[in-house]
Amino acid sequence: MQSRESPSSKQDPQGLNKYVSQVLDYVVDRFAQGQKEVIPSLAAEKLKLSSVEILGLFMLLEDKGILQHFYRVYCRNKDAPLCDVADKEDIPEQIPCKFCGDEHGEIDVDVEVVFRINAEKLTDLLRKRAVA
Ligand SMILES: [Zn+2]
Repeated sequence: MQSRESPSSKQDPQGLNKYVSQVLDYVVDRFAQGQKEVIPSLAAEKLKLSSVEILGLFMLLEDKGILQHFYRVYCRNKDAPLCDVADKEDIPEQIPCKFCGDEHGEIDVDVEVVFRINAEKLTDLLRKRAVA
């Protein structure tokens, strides 16, 4: 017999809602400071969540249209942003780098997932939230 007392926190809507609103607050805060993007690793650090958890929560906000993910490609030598692509497959095979002078390819760049804030959706949501 399976124990009936096994409420996984993942299935607890209350718990999930708490995290969603925490993450949403974070996004609102960044947005209020003039940021147009949020980076999962920074959010994870700030909210003391794992990067996997943050990614899941950001995806939830993406489902609501508040965030939109893309990939930022960095020069590994200089840790400088080279370009943004919608899909990892869109990373150019050769990227001339103005930071270190080399030409980079898929194998010697760092790629980070970044979420763009949809200002319209977010303001919309905040308006509804203020009413509720
Ligand atoms: Zn470079």
